[in-house]
Amino acid sequence: MKPPSVLIAGAGPAGLVSALALARAGIPVTVLERAADLVQDLRASTFHPPTLDLLEQFGDIPERLKAQGLIARHTQQRDRREGVIAEFDMALLEGQTRHPYRLQCEQWKLARLLREALSALPHARLVADATVDGVEQGADHVVVTATVQGEATRFQGDWLIGADGAWSAVRQSLGIEFEGFTYPERFLVVSTAFPFELHLPRLSWVNYISDPDEWCVLLRVPGLWRVLFPTPPQETDEEVMSGLTIERRLQGLLAQPRPYEVVHRTLYKVHQRIARQFRKGRVLLAGDAAHINNPLGGMGMNGGVHDAFNLSAKLIEVVQGGADAALLDRYERQRRTVAIEYVNADTQRNKKNIEERDPATRARHHDELRAIAADPAASRAYLRKTSMLDALARADGIA
Ligand SMILES: Cc1cc2nc3c(=O)[nH]c(=O)nc-3n(C[C@H](O)[C@H](O)[C@H](O)COP(=O)(O)OP(=O)(O)OC[C@H]3O[C@@H](n4cnc5c(N)ncnc54)[C@H](O)[C@@H]3O)c2cc1C
Repeated sequence: MKPPSVLIAGAGPAGLVSALALARAGIPVTVLERAADLVQDLRASTFHPPTLDLLEQFGDIPERLKAQGLIARHTQQRDRREGVIAEFDMALLEGQTRHPYRLQCEQWKLARLLREALSALPHARLVADATVDGVEQGADHVVVTATVQGEATRFQGDWLIGADGAWSAVRQSLGIEFEGFTYPERFLVVSTAFPFELHLPRLSWVNYISDPDEWCVLLRVPGLWRVLFPTPPQETDEEVMSGLTIERRLQGLLAQPRPYEVVHRTLYKVHQRIARQFRKGRVLLAGDAAHINNPLGGMGMNGGVHDAFNLSAKLIEVVQGGADAALLDRYERQRRTVAIEYVNADTQRNKKNIEERDPATRARHHDELRAIAADPAASRAYLRKTSMLDALARADGIA
């Protein structure tokens, strides 16, 4: 008899982590990925401590990521006019994580390492240029229809993980609502090799910079600074992406006699949405297919990786350990609750604070941050929350 197999739609972080965890346990997996090759675009760039702890299950992957990234021991809350408001030392998390820092490293580097590890396992298959079009399920199987290199193809498995991103064809095919809203403004991310650290006093590698008119986030990855700006809804895509507008925004952040050299620019819509169900029969949703949020706090990719570890551990118990499939409902209870109570709530609060316009509310928030930073116990509690340790503990506590 053939061993039970798992189909996975999407080779992003959530799909690849799930695939590797399942394949390492000996479960045959087939990953269907729309792109023909690994995409090296500007997306998430922060690995939170518990994500690195979890990735240790895959041997030296955290170490290899570290070798390609930068360790950010401190994070800062700044204000455009006032400079540093509060700095947090992640070393305060020692004893609560084996990685008491944020690792600044592009998400495609994780995808590359996961793909490499997957390719060494004979019962794992990654089919590129394979777009999932639809899903049907019976009592004991799932059938995925996909277009593989232009040809309609059917794949059958025992379970399916929909990790095919925000516009998930799996989620849509199952008719699962994606509840929430889309922000009116779009977010612009530009990257430049300009050495901001030599010009902005005491800059750390992770900086959230509030401003009533134009807040921004300044994040370092190896060799580059990434700057994230909100853009007003009335600006057209052409205006936002034009060299002149980008130059004006960067000059507004730090005036320089010479123009900035911009290496990448990306404009994207931002949403706060959560799938009404994470499980429907033999199909499970993970990562952006299940929940999306704004990038303030760097929780999107990390949350997707946390989903993938939670889900794959339960699927292994069901497929190999004889556990009842109802265990998979616990995955939904745990990860959907955390997506609502932590990831979605925290990222919305982060956005509200960084863009606050009312002077009294801004001043109060800055005072709160200063008070937290001055108190090690309060700082530790703040860091447990911002580094997603609390969210994982909350999920563990849900039966
Ligand atoms: C422009 C941009 C910038 C971002 N910046 C940040 C950031 O700064 N910080 C942060 O934390 N998060 C950021 N995010 C979010 C972060 O990248 C995601 O949360 C993360 O990629 C989620 O991983 P995932 O595996 O769930 O989905 P994805 O990484 O989106 O992977 C889904 C995969 O499925 C594939 N796919 C899609 N449809 C199909 C289909 N029908 N059939 C087969 N395959 C399919 C896609 O090609 C993709 O490879 C950003 C996202 C975007 C789009």
